[in-house]
Amino acid sequence: MENAHPVKLYPRSDDSALGLMALPVKLKPGPYTITVKSAGGETALSAHFTVVDAHFEIQDIHPTKAMKELKPLPGEDDKVAALLATESAKGYWTEPFVDPVPTCMTSSFGVERYYDGKATGNIHRGLDLRSPEGRPVKATTGGVVQIARMFRRHGGTIGLDHGEGVTSLYLHLSRVAVREGTVVRKGTVVGYVGSTGFATGPHLHWSIYVHGQAVNPLQWTPEMKPCAE
Ligand SMILES: [Zn+2]
Repeated sequence: MENAHPVKLYPRSDDSALGLMALPVKLKPGPYTITVKSAGGETALSAHFTVVDAHFEIQDIHPTKAMKELKPLPGEDDKVAALLATESAKGYWTEPFVDPVPTCMTSSFGVERYYDGKATGNIHRGLDLRSPEGRPVKATTGGVVQIARMFRRHGGTIGLDHGEGVTSLYLHLSRVAVREGTVVRKGTVVGYVGSTGFATGPHLHWSIYVHGQAVNPLQWTPEMKPCAE
């Protein structure tokens, strides 16, 4: 597994360095090793850790024919892939993050998606937050608006670059409220909840990525709870 997941370190104001190591959802449970290297490439430190089985569940959803036939707009997938690959040196994010919509979640992170009882191989790479249409959606932390588009498959989409390899996505918006290139603060309204694109009803799909790997937003906003139904 040498260099399987290289983690870039970013300098902090107190002369320390911070590197966030995100592990893929499908990483096999078991023992792993992390190695810290000096600028010259020598091993400065090495430690072992164990990945435990997270027991992600299965969720069966029932897409309509129109949803199944939705194709991305030309460039849609490239624009999202470019956001996830962004490694801006300037960090805009500060903890704690805020919930984009103050509500509960109807679908959790990492669940395996089935369509009409059939496995798709798709993993849910974010949280679905319950909300009526039109509620304001807030930036979870500071960042630069890299995507503010009405896409076809993702629907109304905001993509934020928080710097240092941290990015976030807000999907299915009824409309976007900011322009690409704008710097936003934590809590700035970036759009409004909708049911555009691949959605069975109004809700917010919210993802956080670290170095391109989807991570569980609950690690950043632990007060978000599942909806009681
Ligand atoms: Zn979702």
